[in-house]
Amino acid sequence: MLDLAIIGGGPAGLTAGLYATRGGLNNVTMFEMGMPGGQITGSSEIENYPGVTGEITGMDLMIPWPEQCQRFGLKHGMVEVKRIELKADGNFTIHKGDGTSEDAMSVIVCTGSTPKRAGFKGEDELFGKGVSTCATCDGFFYKNKEVAVIGGGDTALEEAFYLSNICAKVYLVHRRDTFRSAPNTIKRLKETANIELVLNTTIVEAYGDAMGVNGLKVMTPEGERDLQVPGIFTFVGMNVNNGILMDEEGKSICALNDSGNVIVDLKMQTNIPGLFAAGDLRIDAPKQVVSAAGDGAVAGVNVITYIDDKLNG
Ligand code: FAD
Ligand code: NAP
Repeated sequence: MLDLAIIGGGPAGLTAGLYATRGGLNNVTMFEMGMPGGQITGSSEIENYPGVTGEITGMDLMIPWPEQCQRFGLKHGMVEVKRIELKADGNFTIHKGDGTSEDAMSVIVCTGSTPKRAGFKGEDELFGKGVSTCATCDGFFYKNKEVAVIGGGDTALEEAFYLSNICAKVYLVHRRDTFRSAPNTIKRLKETANIELVLNTTIVEAYGDAMGVNGLKVMTPEGERDLQVPGIFTFVGMNVNNGILMDEEGKSICALNDSGNVIVDLKMQTNIPGLFAAGDLRIDAPKQVVSAAGDGAVAGVNVITYIDDKLNG
């Protein structure tokens, strides 16, 4: 039986693994279905991680983290977790995507969040054929071309800057005329010559053919407008990845709030003893790399105490 199963290998999961193994737990596996690093690896620029100055990408930031954890004995299970089962004896069974399962005395859930779809006509059909949620991955395909970015949060604005350095022009399409972003970011947005703000505007449809996107029709306060762009980037928020907490009847094994975020205390412990949650999927998460890492450290330290109490009374 594992001492600890960590589900998710983003900043929260990796830091939980670092603190748990370095703090003395011997049998710890982090289950991560992709490459460790989490959603920040898709970011073209991070400038608010303490102590890291200069322009670096999210990938640059995260590359050393797994190696640091492995030095202290963290194992990486490269598999998707389908479900966490709470057993009658208070331990947990981790049901994996390959059909096998493993038992664990404690679990830290760090599955983070994934990009939402905006829900406009043509989005699903053209996803991956010109509609994208990753500027770092796909921006280069539109070098010296025009693209549209949809959204008005930090992600949309920052990725619009990134694209403005590659593309001839970026239309930033937002449904309101104010943004959910830091004042400094908004100032920079307004000063970037090749970003046109298309505000108070809703999406009518993305259109294209077998070759991909040909354009985006939008409804502005002045009437319908046809943006003839081959690339559309949507950054309209994130969904909480809480599916592995659902039992066979679709009911969560621990308490969630109305938005599906896991309710934790200051030790990152849920209402189920031995089940912890850290990072973007917990309630009131600031959704930052530094806070996800901080949560992971808190959870890792408290799991050690939990197991010690369980084994030694
Ligand atoms: P995540 O990073 O989401 O990691 C979760 C991991 O769990 C993923 O690797 C996923 O593959 C894995 N996983 C999920 N489900 C399963 C499963 N069932 N089985 C196995 N593995 C699973 N924050 C900042 O501080 N500064 C920034 O500049 C910044 N820029 C950003 C730019 C972009 C484009 C985005 C999308 C986010 C940005 N953020 C930024 C936010 C930051 O990335 C997140 O707050 C942080 O990554 C959350 O970490 P996490 O460990 O909670 O979750
Ligand atoms: P977000 O802050 O939730 O913003 C989503 C944006 O998309 C909002 O402007 C919203 O409009 C718009 N939107 C939502 N649904 C839409 C739809 N169906 N059609 C059109 N527009 C829609 O999401 P985010 O920008 O991805 O950020 C997520 C979290 O990560 C935030 O907490 C953010 O601060 C954090 N983050 C931080 C940094 C950083 O610190 N540098 C960078 C990136 C992300 P309304 O405004 O009208 O609701």
